[in-house]
Amino acid sequence: MKDYYDILGVSRDAAADDLKRAFRQLAMKYHPDRNPDNKQSEDKFKEINEAYSCLSDPQKRAHYDRFGSSEGMGGGYAGAGFGDIFEDIFGDLFGAFGGTGRQRAAKGSDLRYDLGISLSEAVFGAEKTIDFPKWEICKECKGSGSEPGKSPETCPSCKGAGQIRFQQGFFSVSKSCSKCQGTGHRITHPCKKCKGTGRIKENKSISLKIPAGVDTGSRLRVSGEGELGEYGGPSGDLYVVLNVEEHPFFKREGTEIFCEAPVSFPQAALGAEIEIPTIDGAAKLKIPPGAQSGRLFTIKGKGAPRVGGHQRGNQIVRIYVEVPTKLTPRQRELLEEFTSINGGEAAKGFKEKLKDLFSGVEN
Ligand SMILES: [Zn+2]
Ligand SMILES: [Zn+2]
Repeated sequence: MKDYYDILGVSRDAAADDLKRAFRQLAMKYHPDRNPDNKQSEDKFKEINEAYSCLSDPQKRAHYDRFGSSEGMGGGYAGAGFGDIFEDIFGDLFGAFGGTGRQRAAKGSDLRYDLGISLSEAVFGAEKTIDFPKWEICKECKGSGSEPGKSPETCPSCKGAGQIRFQQGFFSVSKSCSKCQGTGHRITHPCKKCKGTGRIKENKSISLKIPAGVDTGSRLRVSGEGELGEYGGPSGDLYVVLNVEEHPFFKREGTEIFCEAPVSFPQAALGAEIEIPTIDGAAKLKIPPGAQSGRLFTIKGKGAPRVGGHQRGNQIVRIYVEVPTKLTPRQRELLEEFTSINGGEAAKGFKEKLKDLFSGVEN
């Protein structure tokens, strides 16, 4: 039995608003328009829809809570009222993704552009110029397809109707005129620039403002920069999908930036102030005496912001103690002396613990 609460990730006493919020978030994530040809997303999307159609209806929810099932309540809910819920919750929001059938007919298709940016551009934001090929109205003929000064003539086959009617048995059938592709006219002097098509593939260059805080997978929508719409429809949108390049030193997770820094054995033992690179430039970090390998330190405010946020996260530094691989005779002498003073034991605490452990077993 499917647990609808589980599917939506809400508690059993979730209020209607919480349900709506949870559903909305999940539906945005798994909407087929955002996950084209992804069967898994599609199934998930159906599942959250089913869960929400049940739980958002107080009567159905009560029934479900009582019997743990939505059956026996006038049919299953999968797909029932699918569109309605959608319209209700999202309004025209999904128009933004080239979503509903209505808009798809007239609107030009959306374009996708994958843009790689550096970590520092992702953290601080950037201004980028991108070039990409797209269909534009032919400026020579203003999209008419005819040489300037010439007009297309009426199609002689269909006499301008764009349709041809013929008799088939008892029926009068009409089909699109094949001589003029249903346009009703014929171009006699095709524009030389676009060869009569009225549009031309051009390299488009646009400048793009990348907000601070974006991350790999962030999408920027540039309204109206997609392909030209057919039959005079509006242009589609351009989606710029960002990919933040790997940094050799920093690793980012959300608003935090991680790095590792080596310290020498004497620095770790005696304490030291070391220089740490941050995305803003070098910063000082105080290492207290006796710091162990793997210890984490926080440098406040040197991480990444959230998009639209003002505060930046932190940088987390993980230190590791470097063991020298080559020793000069003098260094060796000093370390041997250190060892003899130290009683020859590297890890007294460890030995103590072991002793406790074994004595415990014996008793
Ligand atoms: Zn033209
Ligand atoms: Zn025709």
